[in-house]
Amino acid sequence: MHNNIYHIFFDLDKTLWDFETNSSQTLEELYQKFELKSKGITSLDEMIDIYLKINKRYWTLYTANKISKEDLRTQRFNETFEYFGVFNKELAFNFGLEYIEISPKKKALYPFAHQILEYLHAKYKLHIITNGFEEVQYTKLKSANIIHFFNEIITSEKAGVKKPEIGIYEYALKQVGAKKENTIMIGDDWEADILGAINAGIAPVYFNPKNNSKNDYNVKQISCLSHLKTFL
Ligand SMILES: [Mg+2]
Repeated sequence: MHNNIYHIFFDLDKTLWDFETNSSQTLEELYQKFELKSKGITSLDEMIDIYLKINKRYWTLYTANKISKEDLRTQRFNETFEYFGVFNKELAFNFGLEYIEISPKKKALYPFAHQILEYLHAKYKLHIITNGFEEVQYTKLKSANIIHFFNEIITSEKAGVKKPEIGIYEYALKQVGAKKENTIMIGDDWEADILGAINAGIAPVYFNPKNNSKNDYNVKQISCLSHLKTFL
């Protein structure tokens, strides 16, 4: 695989940037700050659990172009709070604003992220392809101190199309001056990253730290970023 590979595209959220850890830390801080316990949300752990599920559903809708960025940002907390019987749109709105401000500044990455980026950076040209928001993703890359490893950072906002659409991969290849046969895509999302890359003719590597049973197409899988070193 490595002989003719010159470019590596990475997904960011849940591939390099540890979304669950960073999101949970932020929710914990804001839970205290907004005094949610006294407002009726008695369990922080349950709130985190519910939020992650609701957020995931909203992201699926956003990715499918069924809701806007604004809807995503305001409704996910409103729905989380309503689950606990707290009907307060203003509270949810303000909570959501602070969440967007604080969470991208969190620094948790998956194990070996720095080491593997250091290693790959010396051998390949590295880039990001993400469906996340332009301003947020740059903040994450800077805060986690990994932005210097990447040549191009392609966001769906900049490209005008989201993964898994073929258009964002074509845009990315053009942007970095790469041929699809000289490129691989590494990501955690089966639809967006793996099927998207396959449709665009780019070889995928499935980052699967929780060992979900997805092994169609004989796609290469890793459960730890350090495993990339065995074939790249
Ligand atoms: Mg991801």
